[in-house]
Amino acid sequence: MSYSRLSFFFISIILLGVLSGEIVSRPIKVVTITEDFASIAKDIGGDLVDVSSLIKGSRNLHHINPKPSMVMKVKSADLLIRLGMQQDSWIDSLIDVARNSRVFPNQNGFLDASQGIQKLEVPTEKISGQLGDVHKDGNPHYWLNPENGKHIAKKIRDKLKLIDQNNQDIYDENYMIFRDKLDEKIKEWQDQIKPLSEFQIVTYHTVWSYFFDAFNLNRVGELETLPGIPPTTRHLIKLKSLLNSSDKPKLVISASYYPRDVGQSFAKDIDGHFETIPANVGESGVSSYMELFDFIIEKLTQ
Ligand SMILES: [Zn+2]
Repeated sequence: MSYSRLSFFFISIILLGVLSGEIVSRPIKVVTITEDFASIAKDIGGDLVDVSSLIKGSRNLHHINPKPSMVMKVKSADLLIRLGMQQDSWIDSLIDVARNSRVFPNQNGFLDASQGIQKLEVPTEKISGQLGDVHKDGNPHYWLNPENGKHIAKKIRDKLKLIDQNNQDIYDENYMIFRDKLDEKIKEWQDQIKPLSEFQIVTYHTVWSYFFDAFNLNRVGELETLPGIPPTTRHLIKLKSLLNSSDKPKLVISASYYPRDVGQSFAKDIDGHFETIPANVGESGVSSYMELFDFIIEKLTQ
């Protein structure tokens, strides 16, 4: 092969790699939206991955303004893990601006972790903005059921195995360790949370629907009239009469990013208890996915 043909050959190989997104960094750069998914990705990738999240702690994910620093993270990502269910639609524009072909939809470096999740509260009719459009595809807070944590972990494992085929055994092994540990913890949590099954529970927004579903808790309603639509007096009166029709103890739960006074005064009104709990890793010193459930369950049962 002549010199020029040889250089053409190598340049073609490099270009092919760039275009198809096959050149990955070491460690593999994983970018997630929230710290919950980052925690799971760290468990599955171990030393082979370098994980960062675009958002820190518990934030209202329905109202996120992308920042320039996020573009830089998306630009260098080998694997971008999104929440999906239109909860992070703002990431589409970041992917466009970052022009990193590795994380384009349908590439190995693009993961919508909501795919395959058993979705809750999927609207049966078309909903408009006036009717609250933040849960158009159903309730997107799915990581708050630990069973879904296993699903997320499995999806991350499969993507890492595609991106880094030489280390498939390690990702398989890490997944099994994560799954077994989570199964063990789920049993513990089920025991721990039993006293709460007596309670009628109200939340500000439907953040913990998957959590209640996982632990068979009795969710009565929300302070919001519809997802994303603030409470009205009329709605709260109706909710109060519904709660008062039973003698069971009452609990009002809110995320820290919703107005605390609304939850507190409603709890006082119904003679119930009020708690603020985290919806994501990174709040109140919670540093891992499993710790998030430890913390929430401890706080609700203390
Ligand atoms: Zn929501």
